[in-house]
Amino acid sequence: MLFGNETIGIILTLSFSIAIISLIFLLILKMDRLKQCKVEIDGLKKTLDEMDEQAKLIVRTDIELNKTQEELDKKIAGLYALQRLSRKISTTLEEKLIFRTIEGSNIEELGFEKACGFLWNDKDKKFMPQLNIGYIKEDIIPIDTNINTDRLFYWELMNRPKTLSSIPSEDADAIKKINAVFKTTSFVLSPILIKGKAVGFLIVGTEDSDVAVSEGDEELITILANQIGQALENAKLFENTWRAQQELEKKIEQRTRELKSALDEVNIVSKRKSDFISAVSHELRTPLTSIKGYASILMAGKLGQLPGEVISRLDKINRHSDELAHLVNDLLDISRIESGRVAMKMEPLELSELLSGISDIFAVQFKEKQMEFSVDIDRDADIVTADRSQIKRVFINLIGNAIKFVPAQNAKIKISGRLSDMFVRIDVSDNGCGIPDEAKEKIFEEFYRIDNPINEQVRGTGLGLSLVKHIIEAHGGKIWVAGKINSGSTFSFTLPK
Ligand code: ADP
Repeated sequence: MLFGNETIGIILTLSFSIAIISLIFLLILKMDRLKQCKVEIDGLKKTLDEMDEQAKLIVRTDIELNKTQEELDKKIAGLYALQRLSRKISTTLEEKLIFRTIEGSNIEELGFEKACGFLWNDKDKKFMPQLNIGYIKEDIIPIDTNINTDRLFYWELMNRPKTLSSIPSEDADAIKKINAVFKTTSFVLSPILIKGKAVGFLIVGTEDSDVAVSEGDEELITILANQIGQALENAKLFENTWRAQQELEKKIEQRTRELKSALDEVNIVSKRKSDFISAVSHELRTPLTSIKGYASILMAGKLGQLPGEVISRLDKINRHSDELAHLVNDLLDISRIESGRVAMKMEPLELSELLSGISDIFAVQFKEKQMEFSVDIDRDADIVTADRSQIKRVFINLIGNAIKFVPAQNAKIKISGRLSDMFVRIDVSDNGCGIPDEAKEKIFEEFYRIDNPINEQVRGTGLGLSLVKHIIEAHGGKIWVAGKINSGSTFSFTLPK
């Protein structure tokens, strides 16, 4: 035996001790690990708790979001409904029809089923019903009676600046009272304003106790009440404008009638005047012809030789008779043309040819005054449609006048013709004394003569231009004068092409 029992025992004890120590060591290690695991498990548990909380929060938020979404959808639907209703209301221009445009379906779209509207009648001091939706016949009369029995309460409500609704507030009593009268469980009551003044109120509500009025509902009904107020104001404005227009039309009609009868009277008077002038002129012509005839017989010495002085007086009688005959003839012609008794013989008329004949008539005067007389008629303006003898009178009058008023030296008269549209425009210009602005219209009136030194020397009747104007107008043309004092005048007139 190499090793004794003792040795074996020692070895065994040692081995056992080592094993125990190793086991203890391992145990300590495991314990550490376990501790670590516990810490980790605690950490995990906390994370799980937190996650659970978060999950709960998410669910809660989701529910709230859904609720908000529902409310938003309701609000948007309400706004759309309100927009449609507002459009209907705002395009109604008749006061009576404004409330009638609101239908049951409109109120349902707003989320309610009952609606009433009242306007305050200041004359009768009572509320007049305008709208009732969602009520049976039997309900309506008691509501009206109730409102007017308790009118002070509703009048005050209508004049409150704020909308009243059944959202709990300190107005609990009022809310209860209104719910009882209008058979609602919740409602919104909003005043109707015109230019900031309360004129009535609108109440919209529901019987359904599950439906609660929200702030959004309050806003919607307030907007609707404002729209009604605006539409009532527009309708009033429209009615006022319409009334004013009717009155204006009536006034215009009356004035037109008055003007027409005044015009008829003027025409009658004018015709009487023309008839009178025509008759008087006619009556004057016969004795004038006799006077002239007798004067000629006497001057010719047919009743014996007369002294020179008598002959010169007779000559004056003769000349004055000529002037008087001229005046009478002009007067007669004016009245005849004015009353339409002289028809214009319209025919093609060659102006340059007519003017060359007329310049022959004035040849002596042109020569005497060494006058420069020129005619410049465009080719396309040479032919007009007119009465030859009357247009000849026009030129004779205008040229005759020009000769009277041009200076003694370097005198110029020019006649030109241009085509413009369907008319030919003729200008008769001179370098005479000109016409003051204030007389430019008046010279075409009968017997008007300008108060100037030339007129004091030159005889005239003041009828020439009036006759010319009547002739031109009888042709459908116009006549006017231009120019400045001391720098000549241009008489322009138009004739149909
Ligand atoms: P009368 O020549 O007989 O006076 P008219 O009716 O022909 O009458 O003319 C009215 C007035 O117009 C004339 O008195 C004259 O003062 C003014 N008048 C007419 N033609 C001219 C002209 N070419 N230049 C300046 N004045 C004129």
